[in-house]
Amino acid sequence: MAKSYSSLKSVLAELLPLHRTIVSDDMDKALEIVGAYLPDAAEYTLETYAPGAPIWTWRVPERYVVHEAYLETEGGERVVDFADNPLHIISYSLPVDKVLTWDELEPHLRYSEKRPTAIPWEFKYYERDWGFCLTKETFDRLPRAERYRAVIRSEFVTDPEQGLRVGTGVVHPEGGPVNASGEMIVQAHTCHPMQANDDLAGVVTAIEVARRLAEDPLPPGSMSVRFWFGPETIGTIAYLAHNEDLIPNLRGGIFLEMTGNKNKLAWHHSRQHDHLLDRIAQYVLRDTEHEERDFAAAPANDERVINGPGVNVPCISLNRWPYDEYHTTDDNLDIMHEDMLVEAADVAEEIIRIFASNYVPRRTFRGPVFLSGHDLWVDWREDWALNRAIEKIMMRFEGRHSIFEIAEEVGLDYWKTREYIEEFRAKGFIVPQPIPSEAHTA
Ligand SMILES: [Zn+2]
Repeated sequence: MAKSYSSLKSVLAELLPLHRTIVSDDMDKALEIVGAYLPDAAEYTLETYAPGAPIWTWRVPERYVVHEAYLETEGGERVVDFADNPLHIISYSLPVDKVLTWDELEPHLRYSEKRPTAIPWEFKYYERDWGFCLTKETFDRLPRAERYRAVIRSEFVTDPEQGLRVGTGVVHPEGGPVNASGEMIVQAHTCHPMQANDDLAGVVTAIEVARRLAEDPLPPGSMSVRFWFGPETIGTIAYLAHNEDLIPNLRGGIFLEMTGNKNKLAWHHSRQHDHLLDRIAQYVLRDTEHEERDFAAAPANDERVINGPGVNVPCISLNRWPYDEYHTTDDNLDIMHEDMLVEAADVAEEIIRIFASNYVPRRTFRGPVFLSGHDLWVDWREDWALNRAIEKIMMRFEGRHSIFEIAEEVGLDYWKTREYIEEFRAKGFIVPQPIPSEAHTA
């Protein structure tokens, strides 16, 4: 049974303290916690990819283990300690144990000029070096005449069993999966150690959406919805490179991140820019104060993979960027708001419900349908707008318009239009055709 929760913020708080670097023991723990909250119906599974394995033009990084790390004055005063906060070292720092002068040490220190009391988060996953991150205040008061001992006992594990992990769960529509309808993918990354908004916020928002779709499933024949959790960019590349057969089936994606801070929601277009998914996002957000931005405008994330070269699945992203605490220890529970997390889930859920339940109705009839003879007549006294739209709707069953586009053109609500078109379907006057894929196959 999926674990229950009292608030999204409480799930976030459980994940927060973990040292979740891209491939690490705490990342595994985080992925297990995520799985515990996902609905049982999603059949959450973990996949592991061996370090060093080629994944398209990349390779899977090693597992990163930190036994201890600290900076001491030669007199033995510990000024920075990884045990206090995992942000104190540059992620994927090389091992070091050296005594250094200030001039030798300084190039290895990072602090934030803009937020002098926060520790910045830095990472060097591939062009490795070593370094410490500290508050500007600590940096300023370190004696320049002292010599310092820098110790990082880190290890890069290449055991194939301890490779990069990602977790996925799929929520199907009522009646089970329909292969021809394809899938939507919802992604959130789990890899920023000890930070809340970027991107545990996206993670808990996605969990909430998955639970809602399991509790109140999409109508029969809809797309299935795949929920994906793992390390940013490299995780998505590893996953897709190992599951290329999934790509042609993906019809659209939503990347969720930074959904918990007090800021208005921003949505980013797909690379296609005017795809159905873009228009659905616009439609869902029509009465919500929001920002609208270009594809991967900033910050750019996994949508560059999903919607990138050789994959090309239209993917939008939802976030509340920008915020000043970004990539520092100030990105913590203090700036997380339950109502913001929930609002983002509401919006994502509605975009998914429309996109995944949308289809292209194709007529089987000739001539205008004898409406009253088939109980399809809508009295203008009961529904003026729908009555006025019937003829226009019927003219759009040629296999070129999806329900959403028909609703858009006749100016009606999506769900109302869908409900009416479903009556034509029930009589056998239209057959549903799936939303075509735009995925690249190579
Ligand atoms: Zn980030």
